[in-house]
Amino acid sequence: MTRTFGTLTAPGVFESVFPAHDVLPLVFESPHSGTGLPGDFDTRLGAEDLAWTADSHVEQLFAAAPETGATLIAALFARAYVDVNRAPDDIDAGMLAEPWPAPLRPTTKTGNGYGLIWRYCRGAGSPIYDRPLTVAEVQARIGRYWRPYHDHLADTLASLYRRFGLVWHVSCHSMKSMGDDTAPGGARPRPDITLGDRHGRSCDGEVVSMLQGAFRERGYGVTVNDPFSGAYLVDAHGHPGQGRHSVQIEINRALYMDEETRRPHQGFERVRNDVAAIIALMADHVRTRLGLA
Ligand SMILES: [Zn+2]
Repeated sequence: MTRTFGTLTAPGVFESVFPAHDVLPLVFESPHSGTGLPGDFDTRLGAEDLAWTADSHVEQLFAAAPETGATLIAALFARAYVDVNRAPDDIDAGMLAEPWPAPLRPTTKTGNGYGLIWRYCRGAGSPIYDRPLTVAEVQARIGRYWRPYHDHLADTLASLYRRFGLVWHVSCHSMKSMGDDTAPGGARPRPDITLGDRHGRSCDGEVVSMLQGAFRERGYGVTVNDPFSGAYLVDAHGHPGQGRHSVQIEINRALYMDEETRRPHQGFERVRNDVAAIIALMADHVRTRLGLA
């Protein structure tokens, strides 16, 4: 079958690619692969350093998604500017020049420097800013980037859910090959693949088992909810009791890129092909659950 695709772009914020026909209630989403540095990003670091915060090339690893009937949404701005996988009140008050006008709920990750607005790039030795941030500039990042990204994802999932009565959301990420002291799991080598379902709270176990088996069959070591169980995105969108499933996939960056140069290496094609096969299995799962297979 030859497919045609539609594209919806909010310049600088996100790009969404979807099949023009036979769409499935399946959405892959790459929130951290963007490279855009908005003009008001007043940072002491350059683009090369800031790239360390990115899940580089993840949107390319999942590029086959629309061919299966799924939608693929990718953020276009850098995670270092604002992290859409954090709640909008997950802010470190110590980074601000003035009090935030509402109560804040910073998490442990934020205490370590990795909240909605990251304090550090490559660890505590590389602060992103040399001054406190104003409330207005943080609010602008939320209003112009965080909110439109979330609204688009939420609207996409909601319209598919209304039409089909079920929806699946896969939040696509990559992780450093080695953790550090402040990261979940500590300073130890990471597995090839980590699936996160908030310990069963964001997705039914059938999907997680299917993904785990599919990666293992292709030779990958897979862990579930360790060291990452999924953050704000799957927490916000996963309600398995209502038929709304969200699962997070973390791919070890060393499998497909040089972590120093940030460029894809010879392993990239293998990972992309395996991910494409797993996307197709996920689409089959969705069709089966809908009674379309
Ligand atoms: Zn990520």
